Amino acid sequence: MNIAENLINVQNQITKIAQNCERNPNSIKLLAVSKFHSKDEILQTVKAGQFLYGENRVQEATQKFLEIINQFPNVNLHIIGQLQSNKVKNAVQIASCIESVDSLKLLEKIEHQCSLIDKKMEVLFEYHTAEDSKSGFTTENELFFVLEKYLKKQFPHIIVKGFMTMAPFTNDEKLIRNSFSTLRNLLEKSNKEFSLNLQELSMGMSNDYKIAIEEGSTIVRIGTSIFGQRNY
Ligand SMILES: *Cc1c(COP(=O)(O)O)cnc(C)c1O
Repeated sequence: MNIAENLINVQNQITKIAQNCERNPNSIKLLAVSKFHSKDEILQTVKAGQFLYGENRVQEATQKFLEIINQFPNVNLHIIGQLQSNKVKNAVQIASCIESVDSLKLLEKIEHQCSLIDKKMEVLFEYHTAEDSKSGFTTENELFFVLEKYLKKQFPHIIVKGFMTMAPFTNDEKLIRNSFSTLRNLLEKSNKEFSLNLQELSMGMSNDYKIAIEEGSTIVRIGTSIFGQRNY
């Protein structure tokens, strides 16, 4: 199996799906999810022109990406997994975006650590749209509460870019689509209610990115279709 070829296949798929639903393919970013895959495998994709990556564990991300980013400064890393408080310090050093913000406390920690190193951090608010996911804000009110604090300029080092979600693990296309449209509606509602212009919808993985793009995804997070099965 050739990872660089897989990458090109996925890129072509994204273009085709976007065109079929009359979206501009350039409005969809491919986040290559490299968790459990080696630095060598990641470098194969960097050399094939992939510059945006996602990892869900900070320690693993640091081990692999410190050197990669040193060597290729245009590589950007998003943290996409649940982030524990004691990992925030290392996370803000390595990441350009934290997609898994799901509490006020976590946002405060990120703000604090970023202020210490004077770094601005992009974040997405993760929203719980599926029964079997454990992470994410579980109610609209909770999310709005934190968004309001952000709008009162309590987080000078944070830039909220949009929302992220995980669809349920199911073959039921309707349930998956419902999860993605819930997130899109929430973004539209937030923009309206708070006069915002949030753009990013991080949704869609190897098995469901077609549906996600049809429902407005701007970031698809794809691991298996690029790197193959993970050996946990
Ligand atoms: C692992 C992971 C992905 C990628 O999943 P694949 O099915 O391998 O494409 C996407 N998003 C999150 C949050 C993940 O943890």
